[in-house]
Amino acid sequence: MTAVNSRCSQNTEDQTTDSAQEEDSSSQKAKSHEQNPAGYISNIDLENGFRGFGFSSELIKTIESKGYKSPTPIQAAAFPELMLGRDLLGQAQTGTGKTAAFALPILERLEDKNGPPQVLVLTPTRELAMQVADSFSSYSEGHPNIKILAVYGGADFRYQINALRRGVHVVVGTPGRVMDHMRQGTLIQSQLKCLVLDEADEMLRMGFIDDIEWILEHLPKERQMVFFSATMPSEIRRLSKRYLEEPAEITIKAQKKDPKLIRQRYITVQNSYKIEALKRVLETSSNEAVIIFARTKAITQRVAEVLESVDHNVAVLNGDVPQALRERTIERLRNGGIDILVATDVAARGLDVERIELVINYDMPFDTEAYVHRIGRTGRAGRNGEAILFVSPRERSFLHNMEKAAGQKIEKMDIPNNDFINQYRLKKIRNELSQKQEMDAHDEKEILILEKLINEMEEELKMDPKTIALNALKLAIGKSNLLINDDESWLTQPDSYRRRNERYDDRNRGKRRSNYDVGAVEKDKLRYRLEVGFRDHVKPGNIVGAIANESGLKGKLIGRIQIKEHYSLVDLPKGMPSNIFQNLKKVKVMNKELNISIYTEK
Ligand code: AMP
Repeated sequence: MTAVNSRCSQNTEDQTTDSAQEEDSSSQKAKSHEQNPAGYISNIDLENGFRGFGFSSELIKTIESKGYKSPTPIQAAAFPELMLGRDLLGQAQTGTGKTAAFALPILERLEDKNGPPQVLVLTPTRELAMQVADSFSSYSEGHPNIKILAVYGGADFRYQINALRRGVHVVVGTPGRVMDHMRQGTLIQSQLKCLVLDEADEMLRMGFIDDIEWILEHLPKERQMVFFSATMPSEIRRLSKRYLEEPAEITIKAQKKDPKLIRQRYITVQNSYKIEALKRVLETSSNEAVIIFARTKAITQRVAEVLESVDHNVAVLNGDVPQALRERTIERLRNGGIDILVATDVAARGLDVERIELVINYDMPFDTEAYVHRIGRTGRAGRNGEAILFVSPRERSFLHNMEKAAGQKIEKMDIPNNDFINQYRLKKIRNELSQKQEMDAHDEKEILILEKLINEMEEELKMDPKTIALNALKLAIGKSNLLINDDESWLTQPDSYRRRNERYDDRNRGKRRSNYDVGAVEKDKLRYRLEVGFRDHVKPGNIVGAIANESGLKGKLIGRIQIKEHYSLVDLPKGMPSNIFQNLKKVKVMNKELNISIYTEK
């Protein structure tokens, strides 16, 4: 249910409960729209759309040109308060329309004069800063003189200084860079009339609280303050009590409503088979664009490399990616240049790309809030979306917490097995063939040439049309096999077995026998050499971990490991697919590439 409370700060204690008597008229209207799954108020509920809030006709025209029909609940509640210049404490998540909730009234109240900034918006990440600045720019289309500037670390400092010198109305930035500009006097704060703290809880989580207090302390005494936060931890309450003056309080409990647009499922998979499971899920996904969340930068890198090796169009977004490249990556995701983004939580915060139809939680999120934020990357602007959570047998107990946070059941999903994948592949070929037929109807000249070729083959080589068609299909499929026939025994292991197996793997990782265990290689195995050894402080567990992760091999299938001074030897099952072999070459252990090769005794 979406609940809206809008009232003064005296009633802060029960701010998440509905209180009919205290709701003002805008929130009353907002409440009446509960049937609408997207959370937007329909025309019937608010016939006036964006009229009646005191917005200029230019702004209304701009909003209507974006296709917005009526305000979202947070907007309906926030517009009147912000147009009056009141302070505001808003509890709302991304996807609720909170950016427009503060951006539209702020734009309307700007003075049309060039000079030091009048509005400062603080965001926790560069991505969100860019996104909010973009929103401001697009909402100010009807006000061509209004200048918006995003300032964040990693972007060109001189450009920002020059823009600030020339005069901007709204600055949107991350705390560190904003402080730098304030300290060196390039961001003059004396004319600031309004400050917005966006995603305040995230700022807190990312350790920006001292920076924010520093910035707040340096603002003029007379100013409007707006805090938005998805949750309301005590630290944010403390900040708001200290810095906001009799704020209007708005709470949008949209969490339970929005995820309904998102089909949420989980798969149970042992850690060592995650990458294999991911490949299977992606192969059978028909979603336009996918974002995969991983816990660390190293995992994002590794996952992306594996996906690239099986011809996915993939890019990485993590803290190591330079800012300019991040921007390009997001743009490419937006315009279809890439279809899969493998990201860490921090790098992907605030990401708003409508093409994302599937969110894969490759690693369990750190907490339930992160889960809700992650799945919020799909189902944008009222679209449908899908989310899949990878859960190891021992993480199963967290599932219930995620369900509670998302306010809906997370259904069980089977990892696609060989049969399913093969059916999917055949269906895809069939679809592509029939589409191709329609496409080629336009290309008559080429068809004539191809028909001539077929005729020649029929006559000269005495080939029947069926054989030619078959050969053509084989050509189109390429070198890889049409049907998958990989080991899938791990898909059907019962949970209890998987749990036992996982414990077995964990226990054995650290104490696998090494040097003293030299002997002949077992007959179903092959001995490989890895270019990492004692001098690199490598332990058997590191090698097992890397190989299991990369190859999807069960820990117990990894045979003897011998660690030598400069290199190591490991016995692995015969018949390693060449793409896994190639990938293993590049995998780094103790910061050194394994550069795996088949071992030949001298
Ligand atoms: P936000 O919560 O600010 O991240 O906004 C989520 C999405 O909703 C953005 O893509 C906005 O463009 C869109 N949006 C904001 N307000 C409205 C509205 N009143 N009607 C339709 N879409 C909206």
